Amino acid sequence: MTSVPVPEGSAVTSNPTRVLVLNSGSSSLKYQLIDMRDHSRLAMGLVEKIGEDTSALVHTPLSGGGDKRVRETRFADHDEALQAVALELASDGLGLDSPELAAIGHRVVHGGLKFSAPTVVTDEVLEEIERLVPVAPLHNPANITGIKTARALRPDLPQVAVFDTAFHTTMPEYAARYAIDVETADAHRIRRYGFHGTSHAYVSRKTAELLGRAPSEVNVIVLHLGNGASASAVQGGRCVDTSMGLTPLEGLVMGTRSGDLDPAVIFHLERVAGMSTDEIDTLLNKKSGLVGLCGENDMREIRRRIDEGDKQAELAFEIYIHRLKKYIGAYSAVLGRVDAVAFTAGVGENAAPVRAAAVAGLAELGLAVDADLNSVRSDEPRIISPEYARVAVAVVPTDEELEIANQVYDLVAAVDNNDN
Ligand code: AMP
Repeated sequence: MTSVPVPEGSAVTSNPTRVLVLNSGSSSLKYQLIDMRDHSRLAMGLVEKIGEDTSALVHTPLSGGGDKRVRETRFADHDEALQAVALELASDGLGLDSPELAAIGHRVVHGGLKFSAPTVVTDEVLEEIERLVPVAPLHNPANITGIKTARALRPDLPQVAVFDTAFHTTMPEYAARYAIDVETADAHRIRRYGFHGTSHAYVSRKTAELLGRAPSEVNVIVLHLGNGASASAVQGGRCVDTSMGLTPLEGLVMGTRSGDLDPAVIFHLERVAGMSTDEIDTLLNKKSGLVGLCGENDMREIRRRIDEGDKQAELAFEIYIHRLKKYIGAYSAVLGRVDAVAFTAGVGENAAPVRAAAVAGLAELGLAVDADLNSVRSDEPRIISPEYARVAVAVVPTDEELEIANQVYDLVAAVDNNDN
């Protein structure tokens, strides 16, 4: 970390303590500026619909008060969006030129097999992320633009890539490989990588904390249920299996993605329905899951429709829960001993009926939910299983930005120590 010269007697800290976290999606850019001394957010925001005429930047200053600001204008690409974000931060006195900025952390969706830890971005690292574009065509290009723009704005500052796949690189080979011809798989880097890794890492560690035990002693099944959804089996702090695969399409039923299906469905759609590869890609990624099943991906709306007697919404919910149960059962078998099942992300943190239904009938696996505890609304990590239950069921709000910032800050501090 570059130390900042401090005038004698100055109250200003000698070490930069802020990390800017950038999360570039295919058409969005989310950001948070975090002070690592107390993990407080100084500013946060979102640019949506990048590349469309209706794109907009919503910036929320959090440190010195001030109201949310909205800029509705066309941002042609991530480069323009990030330049605008830099201006907003500067107008709050939090510009990227601040000596208090220690590093910029970039969420990078696909790190392949090479990146199992946060990595300071060099030209070689950027080239490797570019080489992974064929396996993450929607995400890695946006991540690359974000990194390049941030580098141009602050070339002297460490830019650190934190990979969604990194936490899953500990998966044993027998969990990571598909049972297909090895040569073909290796030639095209086809294997299970897993995603949402920063969330699974953060939530499994927080769950151990909630149980008052070291992560190395605890086996946790993490259910990250957002619009995208994934499960992971975490044994003593290390991921041993996860539900997403080569891409984030495999596994659980999601908002718009099918999750697991017989691969022959694809040949059938090609040969019998006459669909093109791109059409099938769109069908499975954008028009399937809950949206495909009942036309709706918001769990609140699905529950409301079920309460009104809507059978289509009810069936969609049942299919969603059935898949979730299968993964809980499978990962109980994978782990042998389960200490906790942790629910997180938009659905996992908020939808009590999903949590209750997912563990209903699983008493043989040591799982139960206390109806009163389950109905409590809170932003805090909490246990919702009754005291007698062998396995703790927990709700653990995820915080991917903080996890990224922590990893980035630890890395730049370590680099700094090694330099000294
Ligand atoms: P995420 O991708 O983690 O932001 O999760 C987004 C999803 O969370 C939405 O599509 C909703 O289905 C779900 N969600 C958010 N708030 C609630 C809530 N209060 N009750 C049920 N589901 C919710």
